[in-house]
Amino acid sequence: MPELLFREDPYLRGCEATVLAVHGESVELDRTVFYPLGGGQAGDTGRLGDWRVLDTRKTPAGDGVLHILLPGAVVAVGNKVHAEIDWERRHRLMRLHTALHLLGAVVKAPVTGGRIAEDKAHLDFDIDMAALVAPQIEGQLNELVRAGVATKVMWITDAELDARPELVKTMSVAPPRGEGRVRLLEIRGVDLQACGGTHVANTGEIGALKVARIRSEGKRNKRVTLELA
Ligand SMILES: [Zn+2]
Repeated sequence: MPELLFREDPYLRGCEATVLAVHGESVELDRTVFYPLGGGQAGDTGRLGDWRVLDTRKTPAGDGVLHILLPGAVVAVGNKVHAEIDWERRHRLMRLHTALHLLGAVVKAPVTGGRIAEDKAHLDFDIDMAALVAPQIEGQLNELVRAGVATKVMWITDAELDARPELVKTMSVAPPRGEGRVRLLEIRGVDLQACGGTHVANTGEIGALKVARIRSEGKRNKRVTLELA
């Protein structure tokens, strides 16, 4: 299993790594800073040496990372490469991802889905449309941003998580199980939940937020979309 450096330090932009396997255009490394698509968050883009990484996915077994290269790249097992993510894009993903934790705390309703792209992010709630008032949500979000609350990663065992189901707000984007431990993100006094994604260290780093739209996507899905203002 590769070393997933983004888990402990999401601010790491690059690392030296060795190629472990090549499957067509997809490359596995012994260690990586690339976050693979998962938990609603888009996969990273960037470079492996001279080659462009178009997307990053989990391996079918779920414990490795596939760096998907532009066709034509020449990479062989054993090669030493410098892996470097597109930091500007990742940082936007981190800001928007952390913003969704705030949104989940502000809107008090079950979360039925979510997604984080580089330019916008949304959560779906099982709630009445009338209860979603954009200026009110936006005001509360920006208050939490201005408060500059630190975020912190913690780990608990699978058994502890089973005993505290309230820590998994979004079943559809639940963090991976089966390693014996689960990662939690705490925003003290605001939110505590299981999450495998990448976040900023302080809510102040998110910057001003805008509720871009609120739309019904079905009976149990009322979608609130955020953008960086
Ligand atoms: Zn998260």
